[in-house]
Amino acid sequence: MLNIVLFGGPGAGKGTQALLLTEKFGLMHLSTGDMLRKEIASGSELGKIAGEIISNGELAPDELVIDMIREHIGQHPEAKGFIFDGFPRTQAQALALDKLLEEKDVQITAMVALDVSVDELTTRLLKRGEVSGRADDQSIDVIHNRIEVYHQKTEPIIDYYRAQEKYHPVDGLGSIEEIFNRLKQVILTLKPHAFQHSVQNYII
Ligand code: ADP
Repeated sequence: MLNIVLFGGPGAGKGTQALLLTEKFGLMHLSTGDMLRKEIASGSELGKIAGEIISNGELAPDELVIDMIREHIGQHPEAKGFIFDGFPRTQAQALALDKLLEEKDVQITAMVALDVSVDELTTRLLKRGEVSGRADDQSIDVIHNRIEVYHQKTEPIIDYYRAQEKYHPVDGLGSIEEIFNRLKQVILTLKPHAFQHSVQNYII
């Protein structure tokens, strides 16, 4: 199985690249941000709680997002692998993800991280806010808070994957296609035994 954690700050381009990678490598895309937005749109109790937290730029509770990921992994026993987008975002989530995968006797293959400066992230989020309608992209204060939360709670998990030699930073500046090519190169140089059967059928 090829299991990729696609990592990066808010607005780094994870969602866009995750869709392209999903298609290229035949993986299942799991985005906790998308899952939470669906809950909000459905008007569920859970969505109401999540909506408030997200619009302030804070993180949803670990237990809630871990449960969502557990459920989605369980729904796809046929998956050749997963792209985790926006998850894990805390140390507790990273540990929980390893446990969930261990139950399936698989592992995270790599964390591929999009490197984008804070200035660029801020510019992109403000620009996205003009069209996305996302409450958390509208205010500069909320955007600053999201970046702060990213530094404090999310960035430290790089060390967790680095210690396992699974951390692969990639320059996140450039066109969508340029960045996609960089990500593809990294994924193709990962330990081939982990996924050679699934990759050899693709024309890269
Ligand atoms: P971004 O563009 O900020 O990367 P996402 O769509 O991944 O956006 O997530 C939007 C918001 O949803 C986050 O700012 C956070 O409030 C919440 N969220 C998403 N994933 C998680 C997670 N794994 N843990 C906690 N909160 C999350």
